[in-house]
Amino acid sequence: MILDAHLHCWGRTWHPEWLWEFFRKHVDFGKGMPEDRFENEFVPEYCDPTGEKLVEEMDRAGTDRAMILCIDWNLVDPAMEAKLDIRDQNRAHAEICQRAPDRLSFGVGVDPRRKDAIEILNLGVEELGARVVKFYPPAGFYPNDRDFYPFYERCCELGVPILTHSGPVQVHTLRMKYSHPIHWNDVAVDFPDLKVILAHCSLHWWRDCLGVAGLFDNVYCDLSWFANIVHPEVFGEKGAYQHERNMGAPQSRASFWRHVREIFNTLPGRIMYGSDYNGLPGVQQAHVDLFTSWAEAESMAGVRFTQAEMDDFMWRTAADIYRWDAPGREAALASASGDA
Ligand SMILES: [Zn+2]
Repeated sequence: MILDAHLHCWGRTWHPEWLWEFFRKHVDFGKGMPEDRFENEFVPEYCDPTGEKLVEEMDRAGTDRAMILCIDWNLVDPAMEAKLDIRDQNRAHAEICQRAPDRLSFGVGVDPRRKDAIEILNLGVEELGARVVKFYPPAGFYPNDRDFYPFYERCCELGVPILTHSGPVQVHTLRMKYSHPIHWNDVAVDFPDLKVILAHCSLHWWRDCLGVAGLFDNVYCDLSWFANIVHPEVFGEKGAYQHERNMGAPQSRASFWRHVREIFNTLPGRIMYGSDYNGLPGVQQAHVDLFTSWAEAESMAGVRFTQAEMDDFMWRTAADIYRWDAPGREAALASASGDA
């Protein structure tokens, strides 16, 4: 069973124009592409507004279910907002899920600085069926701003968790000072009933992330994109913009497994698998191949994982936090408690 806790699909009108411009300048291993080639080659391959390619990639990789996350990064530059309004973007995500209701769920994307943020939250969860809220602080806000506390109270009432980008960002229009995990300390303390998922285990700041998440039972992490620090090939040639600079030099696979072991030790039952697949072919497959090779860690890195903790990671924790009914879940829980 594989539940991907964090991925995306997009349409051409869903991204702000500054983001398309960034992509155009940085794809193809940082060389960039002329506009016509970018529009005719990259954009059609990357875009998937119906989720059709997403489901094909899930089939190929063996992903049973996935959480598609809508991102509201429009307030970065109001002059270059996405052409599609954020409410309609959330509706488009819900429509993708309706085409494959047994495979897909979505997270409502909303910037809490919006005056109608709580209405968008209500629309997403109550009308469209979102199971999580997606936050993107590098768009320009600190999550511990007291102005957002009514929003968090409403999340608690609705019983919906928040998944937030955490860690550095490589798009220069964004600001990574907002996405350090420490800014969730206040929220974790003041809203013990609110589940917060720090995405990517904060990437390069993963030990800082463990320092925060390790102390709070209501704070979770996903490991989406994290493998990219070690294995840039998981994002493929076209995704090269994603590791050209601040992803750093690839480390060894052995050190990767030791890092994952340390993360599991600190967050037992609170760490989830995710690919951060975003439309580029092969990304899900590469992540599944990497993480299902966990048995190699013992000879390669001298660290061991158990089937039970890998089950927690690959699906059981996501099934709980997103309230997914995973087939065979009860049986798996019973067998896991037997051989734990
Ligand atoms: Zn993502």
